[in-house]
Amino acid sequence: MAGAGDKVDYVFKVVLIGDSAVGKSQILARFARNEFSLDSKATIGVEFQTRTLVIEHKSVKAQIWDTAGQERQRHHAIPYHLSSETYRVLLPNKLTTSHACYFNNCRYRAVTSAYYRGALGALLVYDITKRQSFDHIPRWLEELRGHADKNIVIMLVGNKSDLEEERAVSTEDAKEFAEKENLFFLETSAMQATNVENAFQTVLTEIFKIHS
Ligand code: GDP
Ligand code: MG
Repeated sequence: MAGAGDKVDYVFKVVLIGDSAVGKSQILARFARNEFSLDSKATIGVEFQTRTLVIEHKSVKAQIWDTAGQERQRHHAIPYHLSSETYRVLLPNKLTTSHACYFNNCRYRAVTSAYYRGALGALLVYDITKRQSFDHIPRWLEELRGHADKNIVIMLVGNKSDLEEERAVSTEDAKEFAEKENLFFLETSAMQATNVENAFQTVLTEIFKIHS
């Protein structure tokens, strides 16, 4: 474990995206703190957690961003019940124009571009028991490719692999989609800690290869 004052060679920002309730926050909790909770609260706004690991003898700080801000209905702005103050606290200096833009979606766009800015990796998450969350993946990919770095490393993640009896998306379908779109692919269980480490390790190692 790297402690305070330890030298960090690289900081890599990685974003988590995908429909609400697919398990993004629990995947992050598993990776950052080795924790899991079944009554996970919906994420409000944007937050990130970090974990430092060693890749090829270098100290790499992974800064993993998690959000609910992107989980709006398509073509709707971020939740209106969150005041602009909340967003200013969560994203200092990023959203000073929120009220002026309130009615033409600028708030949503401001959050989106701040979220993706500087991201070198992404976990694109669906729930293997929710077909709709997989059917939405092309749209998430489009949004990601429209906002992020050209070389962004993307891992398609089918979460909740512990719920095999409720499976609604076959491994083959997902694998085929990932190959077609040039994405890495893994099925994970945040609950059972299956492949979560592997997913982040793969993305971070690939980022390392590109950027070191
Ligand atoms: P988010 O909205 O994408 O951040 O989803 P959450 O991380 O809040 O998870 C939504 C719900 O799914 C919560 O009740 C979690 O406990 C549950 N969940 C998350 N990951 C898993 C998993 O791997 N297996 C199972 N069975 N449930 C999970
Ligand atoms: Mg969440």
